[in-house]
Amino acid sequence: MDIPFNKPYITGNELGYIQTAIEDGAVSGDGQFTVKCQNLLKEKFGFKECLLTTSCTDALELAALLLDIGPGDEVIVPSYTFVSSANAFMLRGAKILFADSTNNGPNIDPESIRSLVTPNTKAIVVVHYAGIPCEMDAINEIAEEYGLYVVEDAAHALDTYYKGKPAGMLGHLAAFSFHATKNVIAGEGGALVINDERFIKRAEVLREKGTNRSAFLRGEIDKYEWIDAGSSFAPSELNAAFLFAQLEQLDAIQKRRRKLWQRYYNALRILQVQQQVQLPVVSAHASHSAHVFYLICATADERIALINHLKEHGVQAVFHYLSLHKSPFHLQHSEPTHLPNTQHYSHCLVRLPLYYDLTEEQVDFVVGKVLEFYA
Ligand SMILES: *Cc1c(COP(=O)(O)O)cnc(C)c1O
Repeated sequence: MDIPFNKPYITGNELGYIQTAIEDGAVSGDGQFTVKCQNLLKEKFGFKECLLTTSCTDALELAALLLDIGPGDEVIVPSYTFVSSANAFMLRGAKILFADSTNNGPNIDPESIRSLVTPNTKAIVVVHYAGIPCEMDAINEIAEEYGLYVVEDAAHALDTYYKGKPAGMLGHLAAFSFHATKNVIAGEGGALVINDERFIKRAEVLREKGTNRSAFLRGEIDKYEWIDAGSSFAPSELNAAFLFAQLEQLDAIQKRRRKLWQRYYNALRILQVQQQVQLPVVSAHASHSAHVFYLICATADERIALINHLKEHGVQAVFHYLSLHKSPFHLQHSEPTHLPNTQHYSHCLVRLPLYYDLTEEQVDFVVGKVLEFYA
């Protein structure tokens, strides 16, 4: 059996919507499909404002611009994440301080955040790893105490909830990804969600090359002008049309992914009971997006052996992030630090195949091979 790690799901309406965009003659940004996507996301999750961007990376860069991050500022970022969570703030001249993960999963540890706060700290970036929400009450409490902004890198977390509130509404600004590896895709794409009213007008301007073109398109002004230092963050309608076909199927996609995730969890729980591996922990007040199913091996060697065992049987399982605090680029700028939990996940975490078209039989096959490995 050949089971790839990921396979982008295509709903079937993507081409038709792209054709509509072409026939309408509106293929650049902010046409009907961009508006449809933004409205769908706002209605479903209650976001105050939601702007499509060309990627999650770009949404994070837009967030850094909005927060006026600059030289002298410090931003606290988890070390166990994708490079974009840090790059966006580094590009503005901020100093990045990497926080450790908790010991029950890769999410950022609030106590580690607290230990890194200085008078120069301006923002905290949280990443809801695997779509499991971070401990936001503790994090927002620290942010309020020191007057810091909280930015959610919610790339994994569309349809994640914490105490009844969706990811995207758990901080000041949030960035989502619709990259081909995520649950809902546009090929490349993203969105910036804004909860703090103060940022809404300026976000529109920065996203449109620093002009008030968005207000112009709404007919609020009769010409548009350069009014701020911005850039180009709006995706083409071709991407938005593709994305709209996906978003219309969000509930079906999520239902399917959650079902497969739960099937892995139920079948592999025995290995956790026997203390052979660590499985994802979702607290009672949270629900996750089923973006990743992972398990954590005891050692790095064990992980390599497990990945090889699965590979021999046609199953592609993969590890995930390399700790950013150990990256060559960070070490050029900063003293080495010790983040033991991050290192553990970097060495021992394995992701199993999870995608819409995966069958129950395939999940059972993968489970069988994992159990065989640990027998
Ligand atoms: C995928 C991902 C990103 C980047 O998303 P793009 O849309 O590819 O820019 C950022 N952060 C995390 C945690 C991700 O998983």
